[in-house]
Amino acid sequence: MSLRDFLEQVEKNGEVIHVEDEVSPDLEASAILQIFSRSESPIIFFDNVRGYKDTKIVGNICGTRKRLYMALGITGNKIYEKIIEAMNKPLEPSIVEDSPVKEVSEEPRLSRIPILRHFERDAGPYITSAVVSARSPDKRIENVSIHRLLVLDDRRLAIRLVPRHLFKLWSMAKENDKDLDIAISIGVHPAVLLAAASSPPFGVSEFGVANRLLEGRLKLIRCEEIDVYAPAESEIILEGRISRNKVAPEGPFVDITGTYDAQRLQPVVEIIRVMRREKYLYHALLPGGPEHKLLMGLPREAAIYEAVSKVVPKVKAVNLTMGGCGWLHAVISIEKQVEGDSKNAILAALSAHPSLKHVVVIDDDIDAFNPEEVEWAIATRFQADEDLIMVCNVRGSTLDPSADMETGLTTKVGLDATRPLKYPKERFERARIPMTSRVMSIIEKLKKSVSSN
Ligand code: MN
Repeated sequence: MSLRDFLEQVEKNGEVIHVEDEVSPDLEASAILQIFSRSESPIIFFDNVRGYKDTKIVGNICGTRKRLYMALGITGNKIYEKIIEAMNKPLEPSIVEDSPVKEVSEEPRLSRIPILRHFERDAGPYITSAVVSARSPDKRIENVSIHRLLVLDDRRLAIRLVPRHLFKLWSMAKENDKDLDIAISIGVHPAVLLAAASSPPFGVSEFGVANRLLEGRLKLIRCEEIDVYAPAESEIILEGRISRNKVAPEGPFVDITGTYDAQRLQPVVEIIRVMRREKYLYHALLPGGPEHKLLMGLPREAAIYEAVSKVVPKVKAVNLTMGGCGWLHAVISIEKQVEGDSKNAILAALSAHPSLKHVVVIDDDIDAFNPEEVEWAIATRFQADEDLIMVCNVRGSTLDPSADMETGLTTKVGLDATRPLKYPKERFERARIPMTSRVMSIIEKLKKSVSSN
C-alpha cells in the first residue's frame, strides 16, 4: 500500500488539480496550498517545480475528513474503533529485500530535494511530512513518529524533539555514548502517517499500528547504512543520525495553531545516505493546514471517543474542530441519560488528550461538525454558573501562544451545553415546520428557476 495507490484512487474521484505553471518551493507552493485548502481542498500536484525538473510536489493529500476516511476504507465512529483496535492489536509488518525506493542510492544533497519554505518568518525550508523511525540500542523497541525537520545545509537537519518516545530512544543512545540512527521516510500512505501521529505506549511500534490499519499490507525495508527499518514503498528515505551532542537553533516555525513557535536549541541530524525512486513525489504538508490538523487530530479524537465511551452510555460524535486547530478544542455529542453524564464526559475528554483546552458537550440532536449548531446549543442550553468547569494550572499544549509556552501550563474549560433534564425536553427543541410533498414540489420548482437565472 503506497501513497501512489491512494493518489490513483482519489484521482478517479476527481478531487485532484494539477498546477502546470512553474512554481517555486520557496513561499509559492505554500501560498497556493493555503488558498486551496481553505475551500474545496483538492489534492494539489505541482507538476513544474522551479529548479527541480524531475520531481513533482504533491500537497493537501489528506485535506478533507472524507479523504482521510477513504484512505482507511471506513467512515463514522467505526474509524475510531479501527484506530483503537490497531493500537491494541498491532501487527508486525513483513520485511522485503527490494522495492522501487532502491532505484537510486546516493550521497546526500538536501538542496536537490524540493523542500518547502512555508511562511515568511520560518527559519528556513522544513520537511513536515516525514515519518521518523528508530530503534533502541538493544533493537527491542521501535518507534515511529512525525517531526518537523529544518534544513541546515546539504547534509544536516535540525529536529524538533519534544520529550516523548523518540526523545527517549535518543536519550538511551546518549547514555551509551552513541548517536541515534534514524530513517526519515517521505511520501508514505496516509495510514502510515496517521499511525505515526498516534501514541500507543512506549514499546509498541507504530509500524505495527499502521500495518493493522492496512490489514497486513505494510512492507518494510532495511536501510542501507543503518540498522533501521522504513516503509518499503516510501518515495524517498533519508538515512541519518541524531547527534548525541550537537545542537542548532530550530525555529521560528509555524505549527498547528498557525502562529510562530519559538526558536529553541534542538539536536542536529546528519544525513549519511539517500535512497529514492528515480522520479519521486515529494509530499508537502502545509503547517496549520487541514491535512496537518486532521492527521494530528484523528488519533486524539479516537482516544477521546474511547475515554468518553467508558463514562457515558453513548458517544455520537467527536470533533476536534478546525477553528480549534484540530488540537485544542473538542465538541462531543452524547446521549445523556442522567444529569452529570456531560460533566463526566468533559473530565474524561480532558484526561484522554492532555493538550485539549476547551471542550463543549452537546446532545445528540446537535451536529458536532456544524459550528453554527454548536453555538446555538451554547446559546440556548448553557448557563455558566452551573454548566462550566474550569481547571487552572494544568499541563496543556506548548503550541498555544496564550499558555506558558515553556511549561505548557494552561487553564482548561469545559462547557456543558446539553439540555438540563430538570426542565421539559420541549423547551429546548428546535421548532420545526412540517413539510408536505406539495410544498416540497413548489420548493423544487423555485430552486430550478433560481439556478437557471
Ligand atoms: Mn511511540
